[in-house]
Amino acid sequence: MLKIAGARDAAAAGGNSLAQTLLELRAILENATVGILFTRRRVIVQANALAAEMWGYRPDEMLGLPGEALNASHEAYEELGREAVPQLSAGRSYRSERLMRRKDGSLFWCRISAKALNPDYPGQGTIWIMEDVDEERSIRDALDRSTRELLGIFETNLIGIAVVRQQRIVRCNRCIEELMGVESGALLSRRVAEVMGGNPEGFERLANEFLRGAEENRDHHSELRLPRADGSQFWARISGRALDPADPANGSAWLVEDITQRRDAELALIQARDEMEQRVHERTRELASANAKLQEEIFERMQTEQRVWRLAHHDALTGLPNRALLQDRLSQALAQADRHGKRVAVMFLDLDRFKGINDTLGHAIGDELLKQVAARLTAAVRATDTVSRLGGDEFVVMLHDFRNVDDVVMVAEKIIAALDPVVQIGGHALRATPSIGISIYPDDCDDAMRLMKNADTAMYHAKSAGRNNFQFFTARMNEEATRFFNLEQRLRAALDRGELLLHYQPLVDLDRNGVCGLEALVRWNDPEHGMISPGEFIPVAEETGLIVPLGEWVLREAMRQNRVWQEMGLPLLPVSVNLSPRQFRQRNLVETIRAILAETGQPARLLELEITEGSLMQDQEETLLRLRELADMGVRLAIDDFGTGYSSLSYLKRFPVHKLKIDQSFVRDLCDDKEDAAIVAAVIGLAAALGLDTLAEGVETEAQLAMLIQYGCRRFQGYYFSRPLAPDQAALLFKPPELEQKLHPHNHYHI
Ligand code: C2E
Ligand code: MG
Ligand code: MG
Repeated sequence: MLKIAGARDAAAAGGNSLAQTLLELRAILENATVGILFTRRRVIVQANALAAEMWGYRPDEMLGLPGEALNASHEAYEELGREAVPQLSAGRSYRSERLMRRKDGSLFWCRISAKALNPDYPGQGTIWIMEDVDEERSIRDALDRSTRELLGIFETNLIGIAVVRQQRIVRCNRCIEELMGVESGALLSRRVAEVMGGNPEGFERLANEFLRGAEENRDHHSELRLPRADGSQFWARISGRALDPADPANGSAWLVEDITQRRDAELALIQARDEMEQRVHERTRELASANAKLQEEIFERMQTEQRVWRLAHHDALTGLPNRALLQDRLSQALAQADRHGKRVAVMFLDLDRFKGINDTLGHAIGDELLKQVAARLTAAVRATDTVSRLGGDEFVVMLHDFRNVDDVVMVAEKIIAALDPVVQIGGHALRATPSIGISIYPDDCDDAMRLMKNADTAMYHAKSAGRNNFQFFTARMNEEATRFFNLEQRLRAALDRGELLLHYQPLVDLDRNGVCGLEALVRWNDPEHGMISPGEFIPVAEETGLIVPLGEWVLREAMRQNRVWQEMGLPLLPVSVNLSPRQFRQRNLVETIRAILAETGQPARLLELEITEGSLMQDQEETLLRLRELADMGVRLAIDDFGTGYSSLSYLKRFPVHKLKIDQSFVRDLCDDKEDAAIVAAVIGLAAALGLDTLAEGVETEAQLAMLIQYGCRRFQGYYFSRPLAPDQAALLFKPPELEQKLHPHNHYHI
């Protein structure tokens, strides 16, 4: 609303147009939106309401106030005068902003605009238009301050900053100039596309992405290569934001960061990773091929090991498990039997007279027979049972998981039945009957070794019980075996300690009316058990191999004794020495004999060797060679216990043998048994026809002697003439008492 009250008063007073003008001027003055002062001679003569209000006076209070009172200080007022007077007196407006003081002493900023009414006459006064700009000033100051701050940030920033408007750079900081490699100010007004290296598509894409982002009110971020002024390039990360999101084309701020190092590092990292991956790939390939090779080798090795294992655990001839594998399976079977409260049976099986077949028909046929036996055995038992070959003609069958002993008996019978049919090999009809020994765990023993030993023992009993049968192990067998074992130990010691000695028994010759030789018979004088006869210990020695050193001792001792007798002046007589089959098979037998003869200074003709028919039966070629060698040396050869073996007389013809000793079993029953008598008569007759001497063993009675003489026998040995005697009884040996009387009791026998 206009303030017209004062003006109306003036108009009423004037009542004319001047008054009207005055009224209007006053209205303008009072309603002006600026403070208006009128001064004359430095004193306020007019002030409008707003001016009074600005300085905090009532309107009437201001009139007459010195102008200085409105200023901040005396000095400020003086300064205003100095600045304003030249302008005003030149007729120009004076404008400035100055600090003023209100009535209450407070200060405020005031924009001043002054003009002299008449510059030629300054005394006419000056009009001052005043605006309170305190608020405006403080806003402007704050704006200035923040602009300065922003500029500071802008200029000192390590990130390049540019403001773009209309696709041109309108402002940028030093950092971006340095990044681009240009002089200060060189980027201003440049087109962005040009700065980016004249790549219109790149720029286009960037601009589009930026605008799209701005529409969705989101900042733009991208990474790209920017060119420097020198032609080089750098990787930049660019962020853009519209200054006014509503109008993105109207200015945007951009941050540009050099990320070359980071990109390079990333690139190096990627490259390194790629190389690494490549290397890993190659290495993996190498490893894979190495692995494949290794697998191959492992496979081959396993196969070889399996082959070796098979070889090591199987018998090469029959393919059956060998002793090692059997033992393995046996211990497993025993462990299992323990766990489940079951039993295990072991059968030892030896083929009757296999050795004879092998020796007479050759190894090839023997091997073939063993193979067939293996096949029949395997077929006779269950697949879970083990048939194994220990060597030679020894087989072992292991049974487990049977209900009772009857089952074992059944298997044994099945085996005997399986081996019963004749085997045809190379035109020979052969029969390989078994002797089977059976032992059962845990009934007979409590470990695998005992079980095997027991079965072996039982097998020997089966053999002596007449072959082709089976025997179960009994405790008694074990006792015998133990005795056997003890005997062997003692015999070995006896041989070492010289507890063996020789007795001699004279061989009597009817034609010579006297003794024609002496048979050396070994004795064992055991300090504990007294004199032990060879019938007890020779089989043990033969079984264990001890016969070899024992026999050598006998030979040497007999030859030595004969020499002693010779040196005593007793008549020269041949000494007969028994050779066991095993001894006879010794390779170096001939050399040993030759050495002993040489050692004792005995001529070969004073040694007679007694061998059994069994010795002759084995490997005939070898036997023949050996006998020839001995005979050629001059050693005499006699067949001992003739008639108990299997040799026929025609068979004997092949060998260079000189004498047959008719076994005492024929002589024993000679007088009562017609058959024995017939055999003895036939042997004597045929031997004579073949040019062989005969000697009858075991002559105990005069009647036997008479009968033998009747059949044509001329040589004898037996208790009837003399028992075997110790060598110190030489007198009786060389000339038994009443020998002639015994040979010719009635003289009519004398021919
Ligand atoms: P042998 O070679 O047939 O010896 C004859 C055996 O008959 C001797 O028994 C002898 O004492 C016995 N004897 C002699 N006359 C009679 C008689 O009228 N009636 C009876 N019933 N027996 C008579 P010995 O000394 O007990 O020898 C037994 C066997 O031991 C020998 O039988 C021989 O095979 C073997 N032997 C003895 N000494 C040796 C030896 O040094 N080496 C070898 N390998 N065997 C030996
Ligand atoms: Mg003899
Ligand atoms: Mg004999």
